[in-house]
Amino acid sequence: MRAVIMKSPGDVRVEDRPDPVIEEPTDAVIRIVAACVCGSDLWPYRGADDVHDRWMGHEYVGVVEQVGDAVTTVSPGDFVVGSFVISDGTCPICTAGYQSRCVNAEFVDGGIGTQAQYARIPYADGTLVATPSYPDEDLIPSLLAASDVFGTGWFAADAAQAGPGKTVVVVGDGAVGLMGVLAAKQMEAERIIAMSRHADRQALAREFGATDIVEERGKEGLATIRELTDGLGAHSVIEAVGTQESMMMALRACRPGGHIGFVGVSHDVEIPGGRLFMGLVHLHGGPAPVRRYLPELIRLVMERKVDPGRVFTTQLPLEEAASAYAAMDRREEIKVLLWP
Ligand SMILES: [Zn+2]
Repeated sequence: MRAVIMKSPGDVRVEDRPDPVIEEPTDAVIRIVAACVCGSDLWPYRGADDVHDRWMGHEYVGVVEQVGDAVTTVSPGDFVVGSFVISDGTCPICTAGYQSRCVNAEFVDGGIGTQAQYARIPYADGTLVATPSYPDEDLIPSLLAASDVFGTGWFAADAAQAGPGKTVVVVGDGAVGLMGVLAAKQMEAERIIAMSRHADRQALAREFGATDIVEERGKEGLATIRELTDGLGAHSVIEAVGTQESMMMALRACRPGGHIGFVGVSHDVEIPGGRLFMGLVHLHGGPAPVRRYLPELIRLVMERKVDPGRVFTTQLPLEEAASAYAAMDRREEIKVLLWP
Protein backbone atom coordinates (compact mmCIF):
# COMPACT_ATOMS: atom_id res chain seq x y z
CA MET A 1 0.00 0.00 0.00
CA ARG A 2 0.95 3.66 -0.16
CA ALA A 3 1.48 5.60 3.07
CA VAL A 4 2.76 9.00 4.18
CA ILE A 5 6.03 9.13 6.06
CA MET A 6 7.82 12.10 7.60
CA LYS A 7 11.50 11.39 7.13
CA SER A 8 12.59 14.45 9.10
CA PRO A 9 11.14 17.93 9.77
CA GLY A 10 9.74 19.37 6.54
CA ASP A 11 10.39 16.17 4.55
CA VAL A 12 7.09 14.42 3.83
CA ARG A 13 6.93 11.60 1.28
CA VAL A 14 4.55 8.90 0.13
CA GLU A 15 6.16 5.48 0.15
CA ASP A 16 5.30 1.81 -0.18
CA ARG A 17 4.57 -0.05 3.04
CA PRO A 18 3.40 -3.65 3.52
CA ASP A 19 -0.39 -4.06 3.71
CA PRO A 20 -1.46 -4.45 7.35
CA VAL A 21 -2.84 -7.78 8.53
CA ILE A 22 -4.75 -8.99 11.59
CA GLU A 23 -2.19 -9.60 14.34
CA GLU A 24 -4.37 -9.86 17.44
CA PRO A 25 -7.94 -11.20 17.82
CA THR A 26 -9.07 -7.69 18.84
CA ASP A 27 -7.75 -6.06 15.62
CA ALA A 28 -9.57 -4.79 12.58
CA VAL A 29 -8.01 -3.94 9.24
CA ILE A 30 -9.74 -1.06 7.51
CA ARG A 31 -9.50 0.41 4.04
CA ILE A 32 -9.06 4.14 4.58
CA VAL A 33 -11.73 6.13 2.73
CA ALA A 34 -10.48 9.56 3.78
CA ALA A 35 -7.66 10.92 5.93
CA CYS A 36 -6.24 14.37 6.55
CA VAL A 37 -3.41 16.48 7.88
CA CYS A 38 -3.77 17.71 11.46
CA GLY A 39 -2.51 20.97 12.92
CA SER A 40 -0.57 18.80 15.37
CA ASP A 41 1.29 17.24 12.40
CA LEU A 42 2.81 20.69 11.90
CA TRP A 43 4.71 20.53 15.19
CA PRO A 44 7.13 17.84 13.91
CA TYR A 45 6.97 19.32 10.39
CA ARG A 46 8.33 22.57 11.78
CA GLY A 47 10.90 20.81 13.94
CA ALA A 48 9.21 21.58 17.27
CA ASP A 49 8.95 17.81 17.90
CA ASP A 50 11.67 15.32 17.15
CA VAL A 51 10.71 13.25 14.11
CA HIS A 52 12.49 10.54 12.17
CA ASP A 53 10.76 8.20 9.69
CA ARG A 54 7.33 8.50 11.33
CA TRP A 55 4.26 7.01 9.61
CA MET A 56 1.83 9.90 9.68
CA GLY A 57 -1.88 10.39 10.14
CA HIS A 58 -4.27 9.77 13.01
CA GLU A 59 -7.62 10.94 11.63
CA TYR A 60 -9.53 8.48 9.51
CA VAL A 61 -12.76 7.03 8.28
CA GLY A 62 -12.86 3.77 6.43
CA VAL A 63 -14.49 0.49 5.60
CA VAL A 64 -13.77 -2.61 7.65
CA GLU A 65 -12.02 -5.24 5.54
CA GLN A 66 -11.25 -7.91 8.14
CA VAL A 67 -11.73 -8.41 11.86
CA GLY A 68 -10.08 -10.66 14.43
CA ASP A 69 -12.06 -13.41 16.16
CA ALA A 70 -12.71 -11.36 19.31
CA VAL A 71 -14.20 -8.30 17.56
CA THR A 72 -17.97 -8.05 18.05
CA THR A 73 -19.15 -4.48 17.32
CA VAL A 74 -17.88 -3.94 13.78
CA SER A 75 -17.94 -6.27 10.79
CA PRO A 76 -16.45 -6.36 7.31
CA GLY A 77 -18.25 -3.84 5.10
CA ASP A 78 -19.09 -1.44 7.94
CA PHE A 79 -18.22 2.22 7.46
CA VAL A 80 -16.37 3.27 10.60
CA VAL A 81 -15.04 6.37 12.31
CA GLY A 82 -12.20 5.92 14.75
CA SER A 83 -10.57 7.94 17.46
CA PHE A 84 -7.03 9.24 17.06
CA VAL A 85 -6.08 7.20 20.12
CA ILE A 86 -6.49 3.44 20.35
CA SER A 87 -8.48 2.41 23.43
CA ASP A 88 -9.62 -0.96 24.76
CA GLY A 89 -12.97 0.37 25.97
CA THR A 90 -12.93 -1.86 29.03
CA CYS A 91 -10.36 -0.56 31.52
CA PRO A 92 -11.40 1.70 34.44
CA ILE A 93 -10.10 4.81 32.62
CA CYS A 94 -12.08 3.98 29.47
CA THR A 95 -15.29 3.12 31.30
CA ALA A 96 -15.03 6.46 33.13
CA GLY A 97 -14.98 8.18 29.72
CA TYR A 98 -11.28 9.04 29.38
CA GLN A 99 -10.43 6.64 26.55
CA SER A 100 -7.55 8.79 25.27
CA ARG A 101 -5.58 7.74 28.36
CA CYS A 102 -6.68 4.09 28.32
CA VAL A 103 -4.21 1.79 30.07
CA ASN A 104 -3.66 0.28 26.60
CA ALA A 105 -3.72 3.61 24.77
CA GLU A 106 -1.65 4.01 21.64
CA PHE A 107 -1.52 7.10 19.46
CA VAL A 108 -2.46 6.28 15.90
CA ASP A 109 0.49 8.32 14.56
CA GLY A 110 3.73 6.45 14.40
CA GLY A 111 3.17 2.70 14.39
CA ILE A 112 -0.20 2.75 12.63
CA GLY A 113 -0.44 5.94 10.55
CA THR A 114 -3.72 6.56 8.72
CA GLN A 115 -2.46 8.81 5.93
CA ALA A 116 -2.39 5.56 4.04
CA GLN A 117 -4.56 3.20 2.01
CA TYR A 118 -5.10 0.69 4.84
CA ALA A 119 -4.61 0.57 8.61
CA ARG A 120 -4.60 -2.05 11.32
CA ILE A 121 -6.70 -0.80 14.22
CA PRO A 122 -5.99 -2.57 17.53
CA TYR A 123 -8.87 -2.88 20.03
CA ALA A 124 -11.37 -2.29 17.25
CA ASP A 125 -14.36 -2.57 19.60
CA GLY A 126 -12.98 0.11 21.90
CA THR A 127 -11.74 2.44 19.16
CA LEU A 128 -14.08 2.30 16.15
CA VAL A 129 -17.74 3.26 15.83
CA ALA A 130 -19.78 2.11 12.81
CA THR A 131 -22.18 4.52 11.15
CA PRO A 132 -25.82 3.32 11.03
CA SER A 133 -25.64 3.13 7.22
CA TYR A 134 -23.08 3.84 4.51
CA PRO A 135 -22.88 7.66 4.48
CA ASP A 136 -23.57 9.84 1.47
CA GLU A 137 -20.32 10.99 -0.15
CA ASP A 138 -20.82 14.61 0.95
CA LEU A 139 -20.92 13.58 4.64
CA ILE A 140 -17.49 11.93 4.57
CA PRO A 141 -15.50 15.10 5.40
CA SER A 142 -17.71 15.78 8.43
CA LEU A 143 -17.40 12.19 9.67
CA LEU A 144 -13.64 12.44 9.18
CA ALA A 145 -13.62 15.64 11.27
CA ALA A 146 -15.28 13.71 14.11
CA SER A 147 -12.19 11.47 14.28
CA ASP A 148 -10.18 14.28 15.86
CA VAL A 149 -10.78 18.00 15.35
CA PHE A 150 -14.55 17.95 15.81
CA GLY A 151 -14.27 15.52 18.74
CA THR A 152 -11.46 17.58 20.26
CA GLY A 153 -13.35 20.85 19.87
CA TRP A 154 -16.39 19.16 21.38
CA PHE A 155 -14.41 17.93 24.38
CA ALA A 156 -12.94 21.41 24.86
CA ALA A 157 -16.39 23.00 24.85
CA ASP A 158 -17.69 20.31 27.20
CA ALA A 159 -14.70 20.73 29.55
CA ALA A 160 -15.26 24.51 29.45
CA GLN A 161 -18.92 23.85 30.31
CA ALA A 162 -20.24 25.84 27.37
CA GLY A 163 -24.01 26.02 27.62
CA PRO A 164 -27.11 28.21 27.76
CA GLY A 165 -26.46 31.68 29.16
CA LYS A 166 -22.68 31.24 28.92
CA THR A 167 -20.15 33.47 27.22
CA VAL A 168 -17.41 31.38 25.62
CA VAL A 169 -14.03 32.67 24.47
CA VAL A 170 -12.14 30.56 21.94
CA VAL A 171 -8.37 31.08 21.89
CA GLY A 172 -6.96 29.79 18.62
CA ASP A 173 -8.47 29.88 15.13
CA GLY A 174 -7.08 26.63 13.76
CA ALA A 175 -9.40 23.77 12.91
CA VAL A 176 -9.83 22.73 16.55
CA GLY A 177 -10.65 26.27 17.69
CA LEU A 178 -13.22 26.57 14.91
CA MET A 179 -14.71 23.23 15.95
CA GLY A 180 -14.85 24.57 19.50
CA VAL A 181 -16.99 27.41 18.18
CA LEU A 182 -19.31 24.95 16.44
CA ALA A 183 -19.53 22.77 19.57
CA ALA A 184 -20.26 25.75 21.83
CA LYS A 185 -23.03 26.77 19.43
CA GLN A 186 -24.53 23.26 19.54
CA MET A 187 -24.38 23.43 23.34
CA GLU A 188 -26.44 26.64 23.08
CA ALA A 189 -23.87 29.09 24.41
CA GLU A 190 -25.28 32.60 24.39
CA ARG A 191 -22.20 34.41 23.19
CA ILE A 192 -19.16 32.98 21.43
CA ILE A 193 -16.09 35.19 21.08
CA ALA A 194 -13.53 33.88 18.59
CA MET A 195 -9.99 35.26 18.71
CA SER A 196 -8.70 35.41 15.14
CA ARG A 197 -6.64 37.68 12.91
CA HIS A 198 -7.29 35.83 9.65
CA ALA A 199 -10.23 36.86 7.49
CA ASP A 200 -10.93 33.35 6.14
CA ARG A 201 -10.98 31.86 9.63
CA GLN A 202 -13.12 34.70 10.98
CA ALA A 203 -15.66 34.01 8.25
CA LEU A 204 -15.79 30.31 9.11
CA ALA A 205 -16.01 31.09 12.83
CA ARG A 206 -19.03 33.30 12.13
CA GLU A 207 -20.58 30.57 10.03
CA PHE A 208 -20.09 28.07 12.88
CA GLY A 209 -21.75 30.41 15.38
CA ALA A 210 -19.27 33.00 16.66
CA THR A 211 -21.09 36.17 17.74
CA ASP A 212 -17.96 38.32 18.17
CA ILE A 213 -14.46 38.34 16.71
CA VAL A 214 -11.47 39.72 18.62
CA GLU A 215 -8.52 40.46 16.35
CA GLU A 216 -6.14 41.87 18.92
CA ARG A 217 -3.76 39.66 20.85
CA GLY A 218 -1.99 40.07 24.17
CA LYS A 219 -3.02 42.96 26.44
CA GLU A 220 -5.24 44.59 23.81
CA GLY A 221 -7.05 41.32 23.14
CA LEU A 222 -7.62 40.77 26.82
CA ALA A 223 -8.92 44.32 27.26
CA THR A 224 -11.44 43.74 24.48
CA ILE A 225 -12.62 40.50 26.07
CA ARG A 226 -13.03 42.29 29.39
CA GLU A 227 -15.11 44.97 27.65
CA LEU A 228 -17.33 42.32 26.10
CA THR A 229 -17.87 40.56 29.43
CA ASP A 230 -18.66 43.47 31.78
CA GLY A 231 -15.09 43.40 33.06
CA LEU A 232 -15.54 39.87 34.45
CA GLY A 233 -14.04 37.58 31.83
CA ALA A 234 -15.82 34.68 30.16
CA HIS A 235 -17.66 31.81 31.86
CA SER A 236 -15.99 29.35 29.52
CA VAL A 237 -12.68 29.45 27.66
CA ILE A 238 -11.47 27.03 25.02
CA GLU A 239 -7.69 26.95 24.61
CA ALA A 240 -6.82 25.40 21.25
CA VAL A 241 -3.19 26.33 20.56
CA GLY A 242 -0.85 24.91 23.21
CA THR A 243 1.63 27.74 23.66
CA GLN A 244 2.54 29.76 26.75
CA GLU A 245 0.86 32.81 25.23
CA SER A 246 -2.41 31.01 24.50
CA MET A 247 -2.63 29.32 27.89
CA MET A 248 -1.98 32.60 29.71
CA MET A 249 -4.64 34.26 27.56
CA ALA A 250 -7.08 31.50 28.52
CA LEU A 251 -6.31 31.94 32.23
CA ARG A 252 -6.68 35.72 32.06
CA ALA A 253 -9.82 35.65 29.92
CA CYS A 254 -11.67 33.31 32.30
CA ARG A 255 -13.71 34.75 35.16
CA PRO A 256 -13.31 33.43 38.72
CA GLY A 257 -15.39 30.28 38.99
CA GLY A 258 -15.23 29.79 35.22
CA HIS A 259 -14.08 26.74 33.27
CA ILE A 260 -11.19 26.33 30.85
CA GLY A 261 -11.07 23.45 28.39
CA PHE A 262 -7.53 23.19 27.04
CA VAL A 263 -6.81 20.96 24.07
CA GLY A 264 -3.90 22.62 22.25
CA VAL A 265 -1.00 20.16 22.45
CA SER A 266 1.10 21.71 25.20
CA HIS A 267 4.54 22.91 24.13
CA ASP A 268 6.69 24.22 26.98
CA VAL A 269 3.71 25.71 28.80
CA GLU A 270 4.38 26.64 32.41
CA ILE A 271 1.57 27.99 34.55
CA PRO A 272 2.68 30.38 37.30
CA GLY A 273 1.31 29.17 40.63
CA GLY A 274 0.19 32.61 41.70
CA ARG A 275 -1.87 33.12 38.55
CA LEU A 276 -3.39 29.67 38.92
CA PHE A 277 -4.19 30.22 42.60
CA MET A 278 -5.75 33.65 42.20
CA GLY A 279 -7.54 32.69 38.98
CA LEU A 280 -10.01 30.51 40.89
CA VAL A 281 -10.88 28.68 37.68
CA HIS A 282 -11.60 25.07 36.73
CA LEU A 283 -8.97 23.64 34.39
CA HIS A 284 -9.70 20.50 32.42
CA GLY A 285 -8.01 19.34 29.27
CA GLY A 286 -5.55 17.11 27.53
CA PRO A 287 -5.82 14.65 24.65
CA ALA A 288 -9.55 14.57 23.96
CA PRO A 289 -11.40 11.33 24.71
CA VAL A 290 -12.99 11.51 21.27
CA ARG A 291 -14.27 7.93 21.49
CA ARG A 292 -16.68 8.99 24.27
CA TYR A 293 -18.34 11.51 21.94
CA LEU A 294 -18.21 9.60 18.63
CA PRO A 295 -21.72 8.07 18.75
CA GLU A 296 -23.27 11.51 19.38
CA LEU A 297 -21.08 13.29 16.81
CA ILE A 298 -21.82 10.66 14.17
CA ARG A 299 -25.54 11.08 14.84
CA LEU A 300 -25.32 14.88 14.48
CA VAL A 301 -23.48 14.53 11.16
CA MET A 302 -25.70 11.76 9.74
CA GLU A 303 -28.80 13.82 10.63
CA ARG A 304 -27.15 16.84 8.96
CA LYS A 305 -27.43 18.96 12.09
CA VAL A 306 -23.80 20.11 11.80
CA ASP A 307 -21.28 20.48 8.99
CA PRO A 308 -17.82 20.31 10.61
CA GLY A 309 -16.37 19.13 7.29
CA ARG A 310 -16.34 22.83 6.30
CA VAL A 311 -12.91 23.05 8.00
CA PHE A 312 -11.42 21.17 5.05
CA THR A 313 -10.57 24.04 2.76
CA THR A 314 -9.09 21.76 0.15
CA GLN A 315 -8.93 18.09 -0.83
CA LEU A 316 -5.96 16.33 -2.46
CA PRO A 317 -4.97 12.81 -3.49
CA LEU A 318 -2.84 11.03 -0.87
CA GLU A 319 0.08 11.09 -3.32
CA GLU A 320 0.15 14.89 -2.95
CA ALA A 321 0.51 14.79 0.84
CA ALA A 322 3.68 16.89 0.75
CA SER A 323 1.73 19.77 -0.86
CA ALA A 324 -0.96 19.41 1.80
CA TYR A 325 1.57 19.81 4.61
CA ALA A 326 3.24 22.75 2.90
CA ALA A 327 -0.06 24.56 2.33
CA MET A 328 -1.09 24.14 5.97
CA ASP A 329 2.35 25.17 7.14
CA ARG A 330 2.02 28.39 5.12
CA ARG A 331 -1.53 28.86 6.51
CA GLU A 332 -2.90 28.90 2.97
CA GLU A 333 -5.32 26.16 3.97
CA ILE A 334 -7.02 25.56 7.31
CA LYS A 335 -7.08 21.80 6.90
CA VAL A 336 -6.48 19.46 3.98
CA LEU A 337 -8.36 16.23 3.32
CA LEU A 338 -6.44 13.39 1.64
CA TRP A 339 -8.13 10.79 -0.59
CA PRO A 340 -6.12 7.54 -0.61
ZN1 LIG B 1 -9.03 1.43 28.43
